Amino acid sequence: MDRKTGKTEADVAGGRSVERADARPQVIIPRELTVKQFADVLGASSIEVIKYLMRRGYMVSINQLIDYDMASAVAGDLGLEAKPEKIKSEEKHQKQRYEEDVAAQVPRPPVITIMGHVDHGKTKLLDAIRKTNVVDTEAGNITQHIGAYQVDLRGQKITFLDTPGHQAFTAMRARGARATDIAVLVVAADDGIMPQTIEAISHARAAEVPIVVAINKIDKPEANPERVKQQLAEHGLLVEAWGGDIIAIPVSAKLGENIQELLENLLVVAEVQELKADPTRPAAGVVIEARLDSSKGPLATVLVQTGTLKIGEVIVMGDTWGRVKAMFDDKGRRVKKAEPSMPVAVLGVNSVPRAGDVFKVMSDEKEARILARENELEREKAGAARATRLTTVYAQIQTGQVRELNIVLKTDVQGSLEPIRTSLERLGSEAAKVRLVHAGSGNITENDVMLAIASHGIIIGFNTRIEPGAKLLAESEGVDIRNYQVIYNLVDDVEKALAGLLEPTFADVVEGHAEVRAIFAVKQGKIAGSYVTDGKLTRGDKARVIRRNQVMHDSTIASLRHFKENVKEIGTGFECGIGIDGFADFEIGDIIEAYRKEKVA
Ligand code: GDP
Repeated sequence: MDRKTGKTEADVAGGRSVERADARPQVIIPRELTVKQFADVLGASSIEVIKYLMRRGYMVSINQLIDYDMASAVAGDLGLEAKPEKIKSEEKHQKQRYEEDVAAQVPRPPVITIMGHVDHGKTKLLDAIRKTNVVDTEAGNITQHIGAYQVDLRGQKITFLDTPGHQAFTAMRARGARATDIAVLVVAADDGIMPQTIEAISHARAAEVPIVVAINKIDKPEANPERVKQQLAEHGLLVEAWGGDIIAIPVSAKLGENIQELLENLLVVAEVQELKADPTRPAAGVVIEARLDSSKGPLATVLVQTGTLKIGEVIVMGDTWGRVKAMFDDKGRRVKKAEPSMPVAVLGVNSVPRAGDVFKVMSDEKEARILARENELEREKAGAARATRLTTVYAQIQTGQVRELNIVLKTDVQGSLEPIRTSLERLGSEAAKVRLVHAGSGNITENDVMLAIASHGIIIGFNTRIEPGAKLLAESEGVDIRNYQVIYNLVDDVEKALAGLLEPTFADVVEGHAEVRAIFAVKQGKIAGSYVTDGKLTRGDKARVIRRNQVMHDSTIASLRHFKENVKEIGTGFECGIGIDGFADFEIGDIIEAYRKEKVA
């Protein structure tokens, strides 16, 4: 800090300090900030700040969030007077939240995402659409991959998001972005509805996005479009020909057949939705993809959802900001402005934002900086506070925060889906309904967690396993995953939760895994000669023996040996002999999963 002027780095971080003759210098501190940001505010080094925090008994790392109380105590130790930052920026944001002028609204092109099972032709269809409707035939205008493109059908535009699949779609939605107006569900006519088709249907439904079906590969001799329609009906999508309202168009992405008809139908569905935006206001929208270009710097493709984005404007994208230096359309041409539903690659932000980040134009750089930093703090707090947990859902219903309990259900086998689904759907009350946003068999995956985040729901597993990536994501986002072995307990817990009677429960926290590599007989039974692949195992831990994704046995680690010695604990990369309480039927290749029960608040 420059003690003469009283100015600090605070201006960079949004804080400010003022020196007065009659008192200690003041330093303005936000409600929450990271250690690094606090150091910036003080104009001190992070190490110095960490030392002061340690003296106060706070053990923190450089990127850890500290609150106002901790920061002001340290400021005091440094002879400064702390003042909380006023949330004045919020008032200003009110002004920044330009009202949408209904009178100025005009129709905008629909934005489409293509979903479906792997290999059913999503990429091929996106290519076919791009080819059949090249807006511009000028030589040299090769389409650029910017993450989205627009086609023109007799003067009407349609925007396609170029990252097919419901994963990208739901990942964006989990960040709070809604970019898609219509989902095209691609189903290969020779293959029919497959697991990811069903997943895609669930994801589109959870987002309340209308579905148009493209029955693809009709050029193949073994194509059977009628069977696809039958299967669609079984999943609640009744096609128009059969009296429903689902448009299903048979296409061949390979031969470019019926693509035109598909586009026409997308325009019909769009018209029903009356998609409109006000092009006169400052732009806002969502980041579709972003990367660091080795020569140009951070390059972000945004979808303008309302307003018009222009060169030179100050823009915030998630936790980064900048001034729009240049914009490129999907043909790589420089453009000066982008209107609603138009995707453009933008140059000028300071760092690479994330897909799904919301962007908006601000009136000045200072405001942009403040908002970007607030978004950063918001993100660090993560979704934990927003997440729904089974134990808290009753309170959320009472306060009107939630009207339905959204559940993603995963079971070990297909056969257990229906009975559980039926029992759960019966449980809803007037105050809150139970809604199964997705039900399927198999492991709990990252996708399931994304869907739960996006729909503020919980995940219920029945005799199923949680994939490591899913577990990490769920932990960081505070998504409640519950696994049951008995249907009665599962249904009972949901029922109790809805009635506010659910006691805090215990969740499984996995400690580590070991792979069985040899089996020895001892007096007491069998010992599994194993190799610890991750984490650690502790004698007395609860443990499951897993074989081909099935839990064979669930009890405790009765004995643990390293060479000839009994050990209390063993870590990754070591070999050991494991005895499991009440279990002797080990097979080579079995996985021993050590876990403990932890109380869930
Ligand atoms: P994605 O995984 O859904 O993106 O599927 P792709 O677009 O990569 O297509 C998978 C395979 O199906 C590729 O070999 C395509 O050439 C083929 N394919 C896609 N559409 C058609 C079609 O309409 N007819 C035929 N015969 N093959 C197709």
